[in-house]
Amino acid sequence: MINLQTELKNIEDLSPTIALKLKRLGISSVKDLIFNFPNRYEDFSNTIKIAQLKPNELATISGEVKKIDIKRTWKRKMIIVEALIVDDSGAIKALWFNQPYIGKILKIDSFYNFSGKLSSGGKEPYFSNPSYEPSISKSEIKHTAGLIPIYSETRGLTSRGIRYVLKPILSDLEELKEFIPEEILSSNKIPEINSAIRKIHFPKNKGEIEIAKKRFSFENIFLLELNNIKTKLDMEREKAHNLGIEDSEIEHLIKKLPFELTKTQTRSLYEIIGDLNKNHPMNRLLEGDVGSGKTIIIAIAAILTAQKSKQVALMAPTEVLAMQHLNTFKKVFGTYLKQEKIGVGILTSGLKQKDKKEIKEKIISGEIKIIIGTHSLIQKDLIFNDLGLIIIDEQHRFGIEQRGALVKSEISHANETNKILPHFLSMSATPIPRTLALTLFGDLELSIIDELPKGRKPIITKLVSGENRSKAYGFIKEKVKEGRQVFVVCPRIEKSKPEEEKEKSPENKWKDAKTIEEEYEKLSKNIFPEFSVGFIHGKIKSDEKERIMKDFKENKIQILIATSLIEVGIDIPNATIMIIEGSEYFGLSQLYQLRGRIGRGEHQSFCLLFSDSKSATSNSRLNALIKAKNGFELAEIDLKLRGPGEILGDKQTGLPDLAMEALSDIKLIKSVRDSVIKILKKDRDLENYPNLRNKINEFQKQIHLE
Ligand code: ADP
Ligand code: MG
Repeated sequence: MINLQTELKNIEDLSPTIALKLKRLGISSVKDLIFNFPNRYEDFSNTIKIAQLKPNELATISGEVKKIDIKRTWKRKMIIVEALIVDDSGAIKALWFNQPYIGKILKIDSFYNFSGKLSSGGKEPYFSNPSYEPSISKSEIKHTAGLIPIYSETRGLTSRGIRYVLKPILSDLEELKEFIPEEILSSNKIPEINSAIRKIHFPKNKGEIEIAKKRFSFENIFLLELNNIKTKLDMEREKAHNLGIEDSEIEHLIKKLPFELTKTQTRSLYEIIGDLNKNHPMNRLLEGDVGSGKTIIIAIAAILTAQKSKQVALMAPTEVLAMQHLNTFKKVFGTYLKQEKIGVGILTSGLKQKDKKEIKEKIISGEIKIIIGTHSLIQKDLIFNDLGLIIIDEQHRFGIEQRGALVKSEISHANETNKILPHFLSMSATPIPRTLALTLFGDLELSIIDELPKGRKPIITKLVSGENRSKAYGFIKEKVKEGRQVFVVCPRIEKSKPEEEKEKSPENKWKDAKTIEEEYEKLSKNIFPEFSVGFIHGKIKSDEKERIMKDFKENKIQILIATSLIEVGIDIPNATIMIIEGSEYFGLSQLYQLRGRIGRGEHQSFCLLFSDSKSATSNSRLNALIKAKNGFELAEIDLKLRGPGEILGDKQTGLPDLAMEALSDIKLIKSVRDSVIKILKKDRDLENYPNLRNKINEFQKQIHLE
């Protein structure tokens, strides 16, 4: 009997060559194989007589091979296999191009099924490149006469090859354990796992495909929600320090601000402090549009925590951002921090060895209370003295794994007998529609800042067509002469490689995208020779990057060309113009983030979207950016237009495509959520659901690996 763990290379009837080819596709076990779902189906279910064949219609015929010829066209050196097929209604020729082996496989006077299309291009109609297999018992049919699964193919292995391996394995496979409780399957009309697996690969009709897909989307959302809600309940059982922060202490700090907090900033701040005053760990997400003023809120929370003699770790995705946070802390609260003797330090991988060592020692001794840094904060040799609060900025930039790592390293350092966990706060400037946020981050409480500080002028956003490019450059010249600064965003650094998006997108998508290299040449030499033009991207060394950002901040660089690296958090109020080259290459939410880098000062800001795409969808997307009132509204549009993957990035969730699709299905999400709550209410530790408990453990491991 074959089970999920069986390695394909150990299956007797499977040729080692095919096993090796599958391995190259990342498929080495039976489990990998059966969970590699088809990405579409070819509909060959229309089984008819030869006489009924109509041109260009998919159909299956069943007949006897009467004659086989192998021909070579003399001009194009193409080999054609030609077979004459006969049934009781008539005869037809089938032609295969450049597949000479088919001539050897087919046997004269034997019966076969053929599926494909009748082509009427030639002198007489013929069946073109049909899929074929012997007319055998129905249960063994896999390439013809039905809905035929098509898998994403890679060199050397075809869908035919996968079907060939898969079908016998499915019939020998040991029964899989169902982990979704019976009552939930039936109340949601979801097929159990064994039938769903067979339906998704070899459906009898379209209804079976739908129902199988529903099962697997449901399953993923179900596990995700269960995991989240369970984590939340588990967290409530954990211990953390109640910091006992008084309202008067909060107000004291608010009074030191050079501006008045917005209503939602104030509400969020009090929600956060409310959590810090509980004796179980905070687990909260602070969401707010770019520029909505999240940093100042977490600065206050950090200082209040430090004043209770607890340490705060603030982790940012880039060094530039970590530096900027440090500067914000110093700018607004510098004197206060000195006066109160609250040590603030920065730890990034760009630091010199000696400085790193010194900072680490001060963290261990507790001399530094607020530690700002990048990934370097998650290191084995970094031990905090008494960590009370972990804050992660732009959390969508970190994988779930990294978010978890900081918390976990703390857990392992914590006193075993009396585990006290730090409070945990994450921030995101990606506005995620509420329903989506509840599903994905159902383990987190949400604080949302959905307004901008008073007096901000809305950014004027324009789509600029090719013929208006030089007019746009003229406009920019004027503005720079008035003293303003400009961001120019390009999709790629150099000709060969797009920066971080590379893994996500097929290479050819980027073929024509503008590069920083080219833009720098053009802008510095031809368009703006009278201004100082600079560039920055992820491949530049970090101290060099810092110097460039400093020069830009001090207006020594007037026009800065960058990749979407500047997406995250940069705060330069005098930069009031942003050009986005190849804007069709960016997602809406990403464009929104990028644009949030401007519109931060007293001067009117302008965002010019350059696009070479003439496609209507691309234009309607860009128009949505122009019209949207806030990031949350735009995220809803993005969710509809491009799906959750676009808003979240793939790293964020580690979910398979099917589940990502399902995330936009609000009805499904709601029914899953209800089911989950019903189970956990009855049985919080899943003691009566051993299969489900195992599956959840496996699921956690899986999302941590992504
Ligand atoms: P983000 O939410 O994108 O992290 P920041 O915290 O960087 O936004 O804030 C953007 C700018 O707005 C900063 O210069 C900050 O000092 C300023 N700011 C924050 N809150 C307010 C407020 N309530 N009124 C005026 N300016 C504010
Ligand atoms: Mg920020």
